[in-house]
Amino acid sequence: MATKQKRPFSIEPLNISAEKMEQLKILMRRQDVNSHVKNVELQKVQGKCLRCGGLASTILKYRVQGVIAIERYCDECLKSIPVISRYFLK
Ligand SMILES: [Zn+2]
Repeated sequence: MATKQKRPFSIEPLNISAEKMEQLKILMRRQDVNSHVKNVELQKVQGKCLRCGGLASTILKYRVQGVIAIERYCDECLKSIPVISRYFLK
C-alpha cells in the first residue's frame, strides 16, 4: 500500500477581493438566510474548506492518476497540513 503523502503541484490563493470576502463572512453569519442559499453563494465565488467547511482561502491542485484534483482550504486548516506547512517554512 502506498502511504506516500500526495504533494500539490500548485498552491494558489483564491482570487477573491477583500471586499467580497467580507460580504461572504457577513452572509455566513446571518441567521435569516438558510444554509442552502449560503452554500450556493459560497460555491459561486469560492467554495468551502474541505476540512472544517469554513471559508476557503487557498486552492491546492493535485495530479491523481492523470486527473487534476482540486482541494480548497481555509488558512487555519492549510497550516495543519504537514506537506503545506513545509512549503511555508521555506
Ligand atoms: Zn478549514
